[in-house]
Amino acid sequence: MSRVYNFSAGPAVLPEEVLKEAQEEMLDYRGCGMSVMEMSHRSKMFDNIIQEAEADLRELLNIPEDYKVLFLQGGASLQFAQIPMNLMKNRVADYIVTGQWAKKAWQEAQKFGTANKIASSEDKTYSYIPDCSDLPISPDADYVYICENNTIYGTKYRTLPNTKGKLLVADVSSCFLSEPMDVTKYGIVYGGVQKNIGPAGMVISIIRQDLITDDVLPGTPTMMKFKTQADAGSLYNTPNCWCIYICGKVFKWLKKMGGLAAMKERNEKKAKLLYDFLDSSSLFHGTVVKEDRSLMNVPFVTGDKEMDAKFVKAASEAGFENLKGHRTVGGMRASIYNAMPTEGVEALVEFMKKFEEENA
Ligand SMILES: *Cc1c(COP(=O)(O)O)cnc(C)c1O
Repeated sequence: MSRVYNFSAGPAVLPEEVLKEAQEEMLDYRGCGMSVMEMSHRSKMFDNIIQEAEADLRELLNIPEDYKVLFLQGGASLQFAQIPMNLMKNRVADYIVTGQWAKKAWQEAQKFGTANKIASSEDKTYSYIPDCSDLPISPDADYVYICENNTIYGTKYRTLPNTKGKLLVADVSSCFLSEPMDVTKYGIVYGGVQKNIGPAGMVISIIRQDLITDDVLPGTPTMMKFKTQADAGSLYNTPNCWCIYICGKVFKWLKKMGGLAAMKERNEKKAKLLYDFLDSSSLFHGTVVKEDRSLMNVPFVTGDKEMDAKFVKAASEAGFENLKGHRTVGGMRASIYNAMPTEGVEALVEFMKKFEEENA
């Protein structure tokens, strides 16, 4: 068996320890004689798995009592619709468009009411986060929406926008659990787990309890009502049991690593290795305004498409996989999520140095 360094933006690298544990428990989960994939979601065994996963997540993020944690299907993209369906009482919401995911969420919200684009960084290919200290927030906006870490472009909000008292809703898919976060600043904070937490096909949504009501837009399907899911403890129908199980293991791994403050320190160190190299390189350079750089997704280019392609191919041959940039922006992108070991980033930087020397 040989494992590569996987820089994929998602589905992405998972802690090897977690994969090995899952492997050991594959045929017989803790003496019950079956795999987690085969057990009832109503069983005592699975109840323990989901309860423990939620408790560990609450501990990691210090989630207050008055916030519900939901494990939902449909990925992050279904939230683009579920959020307006549940929150757009006045049928008005404000969106800050800092990349493709925010744009998709904004476009989806237009199906349900007036979705105002109150700021954008599209003018410079989303390479920065706009100044959000004094935006034209709509007086009747039900919420202000952001995508906090822009997976494709590699930007992250340093400070949250001034919402002038309006509810803040954030998609944190690609920075979830990469550093501590103050949940009380948000009405809803959610993320697809396949970026930094677990397998694909699930989103974790952390929702302030008073936002979970029967007062949803007319025609909202039962499954799309947060209240349906909250009342049933995320078990209204069969959930993504396997994904919840693996996420639970990752939460335990994060606790063992020292929690989110320790992860932040580790992630800052890893990102610095790569950004320092990019800043000193004569061949490669980063594409994002320095102040807004993401710790998780690091896009870079050589400025020459053929050279980019040559690099991606050579890197893959040397065991550095999935470094090709998103199909819409080209170039390269290294996603260095929690589970990417420091050695992986060190090895990548060494490889880039060598490539630069050989291609000077
Ligand atoms: C990947 C991603 C999504 C989409 O996630 P799905 O689970 O595939 O729907 C949404 N937002 C952000 C920030 C992402 O990185």
